Amino acid sequence: MKTLITALVLCTISIAMNVCAEDRFPKVEIRTEQVSENIYVLFGAGGNIGVLNGPDGILMIDDQYAPLAEKIRAALGKLGHKTPTYVLNTHYHGDHTGSNADFGVNSIIMAHDNVRVRLLAGDSENSALPVITFATEAKVHFNNQETHLIHMPAGHTDGDAIVYFPSANVIHLGDHFFKDRFPYIDLKAGGTVRGLIDNIVNIISRIDADTKIIPGHGEMATQVDLQRYLVMLKTTSQFIDAQLAQGMSEQAILAAGLDPQWDSWGSGFINQERWLKTLIESKK
Ligand SMILES: [Zn+2]
Repeated sequence: MKTLITALVLCTISIAMNVCAEDRFPKVEIRTEQVSENIYVLFGAGGNIGVLNGPDGILMIDDQYAPLAEKIRAALGKLGHKTPTYVLNTHYHGDHTGSNADFGVNSIIMAHDNVRVRLLAGDSENSALPVITFATEAKVHFNNQETHLIHMPAGHTDGDAIVYFPSANVIHLGDHFFKDRFPYIDLKAGGTVRGLIDNIVNIISRIDADTKIIPGHGEMATQVDLQRYLVMLKTTSQFIDAQLAQGMSEQAILAAGLDPQWDSWGSGFINQERWLKTLIESKK
């Protein structure tokens, strides 16, 4: 699993630079796991896909990479509908919106306002763009239940939304949550450490011990996992605050590193050094 996450995270970043090894996609298998009566998660390569399935059709959360669109379609077909009625994007990154151009031909894409802005700035095809956008919250009434899209400002990016299914008590957190890993915060796209921490506190207040959490990356999780992640975020952030207050240089902070208790949280692209640099950069 560790290797897989490493590869995914590396590719998340490298695809933006067009150097991701294309030959890895044919080897990717889409694994479907049932989360509740009519909600599923699809694991493949890239951000985890959430699926609400029912008599009206499918509502899908995120769509990984373009070369995986057919495999995703096949996995959805096994649930009964190859073409989703709605595709919700948790944010604009390519490992969550890569198949938008494909699915957007026949599905309605929804996302926060800034997802459309950032995809437009990235020269996305017309069919890849969200056609319904929102500023703070939206609700989709579909398959006899409500799906809530809630904007989480200035966290992972400036356009993240979490997706909550209140009746099923399931929540998809997009890249606000990397289970048991340091997060990637896109500081250039309006993400902040402070915002991410505030948003996680907000999310924890909305859920309970029975909530099933779909993280952006990693296996299924619970409130306990999210609380542990919050402790890591707060503790490492406060640690860097204290070191900067003592006048330590960036170089010295990087050389000293974090307490060994956080060693297992660094992996692949988001190793400890990168997380420390993100923390330091965000304090400037
Ligand atoms: Zn992301």
